[in-house]
Amino acid sequence: MNRRVKIVVKGILVCLVFLAVVFVSDREVSANRISELEASIQAKEAEIDAAEKEKKELTAGLTNVEKVKKELEKSKANLTAYVQELDKTVTDIQTKIETLTGQIAEKEAEIERTKLELAEAEQDEADQYAAMQNRMQSLYEQGDTYYLELLSESGSFADFLNKLDYIEQLSQYDNNLLIEYQGVVEYVSLCKAKLEVEQEVLNETKAAAEAEQRAMEELIKEKEAEIFAFENDIAKKEEIIAAYEAEIAEQTSVIEALEAAVAADRADLWGERVYNGGMFCWPAPSYTRISDDYGYRNHPILNVQQFHTGVDMAAPGGTPILAAYDGAVVQAAYNSSMGNYVMIDHGSGLYTIYMHAQKLMVSAGDEVSRGEQIATVGTTGRSTGNHLHFSVRLNGSYVSPWGYISKP
Ligand SMILES: [Zn+2]
Repeated sequence: MNRRVKIVVKGILVCLVFLAVVFVSDREVSANRISELEASIQAKEAEIDAAEKEKKELTAGLTNVEKVKKELEKSKANLTAYVQELDKTVTDIQTKIETLTGQIAEKEAEIERTKLELAEAEQDEADQYAAMQNRMQSLYEQGDTYYLELLSESGSFADFLNKLDYIEQLSQYDNNLLIEYQGVVEYVSLCKAKLEVEQEVLNETKAAAEAEQRAMEELIKEKEAEIFAFENDIAKKEEIIAAYEAEIAEQTSVIEALEAAVAADRADLWGERVYNGGMFCWPAPSYTRISDDYGYRNHPILNVQQFHTGVDMAAPGGTPILAAYDGAVVQAAYNSSMGNYVMIDHGSGLYTIYMHAQKLMVSAGDEVSRGEQIATVGTTGRSTGNHLHFSVRLNGSYVSPWGYISKP
């Protein structure tokens, strides 16, 4: 070999060695980076599991407190109904007392009238008695001269006897009148006594009703104190519920942050993906009935406003679930609330999630295309029947799927 050839060969060798070194070290860096990312993903997934476990425990605690609160509310409602009944009884008693008061007043007026009648009757009796006394007195005082005068004034003895008879009749009449007046006095006194007895009975009845009213009012007071105690207890339970909910929300955000970090690690692993803005396909083909839409709804059991993070599509178990768009599966796993679920990264921070599946047909790392089957419809996790819960996440938050899908 000549010198020039030697130099060229030497140069080529140096280059090859250099390239080999660069290539090998680059491969080593890459391999290190991959195992680093994989370890990071594994660690985060363990953290997610722990956070999910804690969240589950918190949710169980919350459910217990909600149950206790519900029971307290039921007891309070029962007591309130009882107090309402008592109030009604008191109202009835008050009406009765008013009626009795009226009747007593009437009786009093009647007694007053009877008293006047009695006074009049007594006066009549006294007057009659006095008049009789007067007549007797004058007859007595006039003595025999009266009879002599009567005899001399009479035309005949028969006439005199008639006059004597007349005097006799007159005194009999007086006497009858007195007896009659005495009878009236006796009758009116009896009436008055009877009225007084009736008034006494009314007074006693009224006093009993008033005692009953006082007892009822005492009972109502007691029950109202019990209701107040229940209200306090319920308020305390509400505080505990709020604390649980805050803890659960915190756990949820921890989980979401970790999931986002895992997704970012995966994106690093598989390279940056870009979503090109195309429309998604319907993920549960030929089943278009929406059993629960995205957005706020009233929880059917807890009766609180809750945010529904996706669209529930009712479909029979085993129905194919399709990937809504091209992407990479970042998660295909089980979770106590989502059940068997798949999360697909479509790039540019856009993800789709498919929950409650019966069977998963992909695993993390798989590339999927729009319309490819990834799972089957089921009712795993927190679900009350076969359906697909379809969620869309953009930059770490749930967004309405209706911006990406439309009913076929
Ligand atoms: Zn749902």
